[in-house]
Amino acid sequence: MSDVRSLLAARLDPAWGRAEPSGLLADWPERLAALSAASAEVASITADYVSAIAAAGDAAALQSVRNAALSRESGAFTEALALVPSLSVDEKRVWGKALNLGRKAVEDADKARRAQLEAAREADHALDVTLPGREPWTGRPHVLAQVRDDLLDLFHGLGFSVYTSPEVELDEYNFGKLNFAADHPARDAHDTYFVEGASDVVLRTHTSPGWVRAMEERKPPLRLVFPGRVYRAEAVDASHMDQFHQIDGLFVDRDVSMADLKATLNTFARAIYRADLPTRIIPIYFPFVEPGVQMDVQCVRCDGRGHVPGEEGARRCPVCKGTQWVEVLGAGMVHPNVFRAVGIDPEEYTGFAFGMGLERIAMGRYGIPEIRLFLENDLRFLGQF
Ligand SMILES: [Zn+2]
Repeated sequence: MSDVRSLLAARLDPAWGRAEPSGLLADWPERLAALSAASAEVASITADYVSAIAAAGDAAALQSVRNAALSRESGAFTEALALVPSLSVDEKRVWGKALNLGRKAVEDADKARRAQLEAAREADHALDVTLPGREPWTGRPHVLAQVRDDLLDLFHGLGFSVYTSPEVELDEYNFGKLNFAADHPARDAHDTYFVEGASDVVLRTHTSPGWVRAMEERKPPLRLVFPGRVYRAEAVDASHMDQFHQIDGLFVDRDVSMADLKATLNTFARAIYRADLPTRIIPIYFPFVEPGVQMDVQCVRCDGRGHVPGEEGARRCPVCKGTQWVEVLGAGMVHPNVFRAVGIDPEEYTGFAFGMGLERIAMGRYGIPEIRLFLENDLRFLGQF
């Protein structure tokens, strides 16, 4: 009998926790009473196992208590019950009953604790409606597309509609009909990409060939904008790329004047930058307009001061290079030679035109320091707009 007792107790581990078994087995008091009536010693040791099962914090802890009590090779109850047949008839009756009650209590406690742990694990993974949702990633238009669309909206409001023309263009449309002299430096291979094997086909260097095509196709009055990608054989640096984007505009009708041009450009500048931003128009030469002008806006980066605060006092503004002004576009009255090239009588019609670079406008508007960022497709950059 002492063998049975010591076998039962030998597997108890003092490191196990203890918890009240009633939370696990609702009829624990009755079971304990029946066990005690059969054998006070078995009742006490069974209570130790069941308390340890009630305290098991996870499946692994529970499994180790279960193994100690019930495993088929070395479980305390398994080995103790194996000794019963060698006992005397009276002992068999007492110990057999007590051990079977004890084993049943441990089995039921183990099953109940397993169910509790499983329920807790599921509750941890259950839907928590108080958690904030995960926003799906949806993407957005590229910053240049946003600026282009803003500009098209603006010009649409002024009565302009969109005209698109080819990126691979005839030399005649890119230069000749726009009044470029045959020896104009822009027609040189250093500045312009020519298509291999076709000396009269180029990648357009500006969106202005669209005017020629539109004027050949349609009769005035014309009020059109020409958005698109253009190419120049530039060395790439922080402010130059060999491809970029422009929007040209063309307005042809009777009695169109320089005043109409200035009003249109000022409306543009107020809408794109801000209503009170100073602008200026200064004369400049382009072959396809006469007179030609350049519109500048006051530098947004330095507020027209020409310098910005630096680590060691004020330094020259990196955007306007200290000039206080930033060029935003070129414009002018359409040259009579351009009208003649497309068969419009310059005595009957006049018109103005303008052209601007989307990258330059986006850089001024958002303070973007590098033109290369637009084509690098880095989401850390693109995600900011
Ligand atoms: Zn500046």
